Amino acid sequence: MSPNDPALKSFVPVAPDSDFPIQNLPYGVFSTAADARPRVGVAIGDFILDLSAIHSAGLLPAAGAANVFASPSVNDFMALGPAIWKAVRAEISDLLNAASATLRDNAALRASALVARKNATLHLPLKVAAFSDFFSSKQHATNAGKIIRGEASALAPNWLTMPIGYNSRASTVVASGTPVRRPLGQRKPRNAEHPSFGPCANLDCELEMGVVLGAGSQMGEMLTESQAESMIFGFTLLNDWSARDIQAWEYVPLGPFLAKAFATTISPWIVTAEALEPFRVEGPKQEPAPFPYLRQGPKRNYDVALELLLKTPAMDAPARISKTNFSFMYWSSLQQLMHHACTGCAMSVGDLLGSGTISGDNRDQLGSLLELSWGGSNPFELPNGEKRAFLQDGDSLAIRGYAQGDGYRIGFGEAEGTITPALTVPV
Ligand code: CA
Repeated sequence: MSPNDPALKSFVPVAPDSDFPIQNLPYGVFSTAADARPRVGVAIGDFILDLSAIHSAGLLPAAGAANVFASPSVNDFMALGPAIWKAVRAEISDLLNAASATLRDNAALRASALVARKNATLHLPLKVAAFSDFFSSKQHATNAGKIIRGEASALAPNWLTMPIGYNSRASTVVASGTPVRRPLGQRKPRNAEHPSFGPCANLDCELEMGVVLGAGSQMGEMLTESQAESMIFGFTLLNDWSARDIQAWEYVPLGPFLAKAFATTISPWIVTAEALEPFRVEGPKQEPAPFPYLRQGPKRNYDVALELLLKTPAMDAPARISKTNFSFMYWSSLQQLMHHACTGCAMSVGDLLGSGTISGDNRDQLGSLLELSWGGSNPFELPNGEKRAFLQDGDSLAIRGYAQGDGYRIGFGEAEGTITPALTVPV
């Protein structure tokens, strides 16, 4: 039986609106009070299956003799390659299957290997080798262009011929729940004569998906579509925190640098490409036709519903400020990867590629505050009457997302961060 079969049920109870049914089995890294060593697990209902404990019990033979799950990242497991990912996922699915007695009827092993998620601390799931970020939603690129450069030059001339991106920082990719300090930097307000150094005044989020590469490529080589496909281990939610005022002053002529290097938050769970396979959908028509090296077969996108939630210190509960979908992307994750390698740039196990901000056609489908407040000129109102153009200290911002199946959903948990005050400016 395929691990994606909608009919599969686990003996672990899973609510219909849970992010983590047996069809998902996303990988994360966790620790507990009883065992502080970060280790690899998969989410199932309200529990985590400790794969290190399961491997020690001899129940994941496809992963080999070495316990790659007794590790503070999924990288060692990913490095085993796509055939092993598939075989291990099938073994985990079988262990959690309601019809399978091995774990279900072993009370001692269940007690040691099934950890209540509320009792676990979730860590960054991978050691990020390198992080590149793209700019592949046509709606977002058009909106950002209009806001920054004006209506006439909304979309740059290269945008329709390639997935535009830049090399960002792996060192500041953090797990959901990590506070985000308001950055200091140089900025020059439009009417100011000189730049000044101080706290970012236009602190923003970018609702994105992240692609995690589980296999690398050789320097000097290009990737075929099937090679690229086999390198994608899975997906996360990703918030590319952005300091708009710092960005506006620094980005000419080499693009964003420090404005996006101070923090990037990802969800604690990496949902495998295999689990998302049933949710592939057509993307927008690409005109002009992409160069041959960027060509991809049908259904290049994924139908993943995404939402952005904001909670200010004055609010009791978060309010949804945007609802968008990964399927809106013009350039797909696979095309981004094929483009990334086209000059011979080597890709590595643990590379993270950001999709770029995901915006839709409508006012309630925008993936950044830059767009929601139209460059800060039109602050939006929250349910409690507060207004926001950009993020204030104490604001908490979360991304959530899932693919909806028939009676179950493939979810990601959330990518959350709360803004803390800037450091004192040195004099
Ligand atoms: Ca971005």
